[in-house]
Amino acid sequence: MDLHTQIASHVRDLPRSGIRDFFEIVQSMKEVISLGIGEPDFDTPWNIREAAIYSLERGHTGYTSNLGLPDLRTRISEYVHRHFHVGYDPKTEILVTVGVSEAIDLALRALLNPGDEVLYHEPCYVSYSPSIVLARGVPVAVATREEENFSLTAEALAKKITPASKVLMLNFPCNPTGATQSRAELEKIARLCIQHNLIVLTDEIYSELTYDGQPHTSIAALPGMRERTVFLHGFSKAFAMTGFRVGYACAPEPLTEAMMKIHQYSILCANTMAQDAAIEALENGGKDVDRMRKEYELRRNFIVRSLNEMGLECFKPHGAFYVFPKITSTGLTSREFSLGLLEKKQVACVPGTAFGPSGEGFIRCSYATGLEQIKVAMQRMAEFVQETKARSGAKA
Ligand code: PLP
Repeated sequence: MDLHTQIASHVRDLPRSGIRDFFEIVQSMKEVISLGIGEPDFDTPWNIREAAIYSLERGHTGYTSNLGLPDLRTRISEYVHRHFHVGYDPKTEILVTVGVSEAIDLALRALLNPGDEVLYHEPCYVSYSPSIVLARGVPVAVATREEENFSLTAEALAKKITPASKVLMLNFPCNPTGATQSRAELEKIARLCIQHNLIVLTDEIYSELTYDGQPHTSIAALPGMRERTVFLHGFSKAFAMTGFRVGYACAPEPLTEAMMKIHQYSILCANTMAQDAAIEALENGGKDVDRMRKEYELRRNFIVRSLNEMGLECFKPHGAFYVFPKITSTGLTSREFSLGLLEKKQVACVPGTAFGPSGEGFIRCSYATGLEQIKVAMQRMAEFVQETKARSGAKA
């Protein structure tokens, strides 16, 4: 039997992640400096790890409620209210999930009927388009532009809205560009969503990581938006807890109930020890988040300056831990640049096209790597750019 023919067609036709392909090459090489990973290089703060250990010691080894530990939901409610100025009832409007990844999947599956269109800004996180397809929706990308610092304009969004549009996905600060969104533009987008009756999924996973004193606004906090927004957040990035796999979705009760039904049958509940650790993160993790944020900001300043000095245009993003420099001046495509840099200089960056076709001409460099490593990587990249330009100049 040819098993390929047995695979559901919408799964079979899904392309493999461009990041995964690229990192299979990286893993086969020795002594690579990786600016490719979207994962904090910091260890999870010790008190949070200890909370997971104590959880095991105290025998917290059973299932929790499907919605998650009541104590954790209460703390999430307080945290979201304090930081984002939106109120959610911990009893009925908060669902603890296996990372933001699960929360995205649940929200899409709970909302979409086959053929519903989902708008999202691109370049974007690699899972958005596939998650929409897996939920039987139709992905509709709205390209963001370097000239606008990769923020989403209401004007560009309006052009892509059709009668089939149902959901808008937002992610600011953005992976892969580091872009943030001004409150004024967000207000225009909110008005469009109300006008066209769109539901918004706002992926807030990098929202603690903003720099230059920039305040972060969640669209959920704008007038008329709470009732049509699913607020998605988690612990992976700001608290350096990727492996714990805890996230959450906050939404009005009917939406939370719908997501909970899928979660209940497919996952049951998020990991119990990880939920105990998440309580500690919310209770006592703030100082460590500040410490890591300060370090990321120093690294961002260094990496942006280095990229511009070597002749790669790069805007200074105000959030997340990524920069997205333009590499067209080298005459290479994103993939050629990334592969060349890897082969010749053993530095790994992700081709911009891994984040959608509008990422062509750019690469993503993550600065969730120690400053000393970043310094060496920038030195090697500068050599690569110089050598590439000299070669293409010689050819011309
Ligand atoms: N959303 C964005 C924008 C991300 O960049 C990532 C991970 O890189 C995720 C969601 C997944 O997060 P989690 O570890 O909480 O599943």
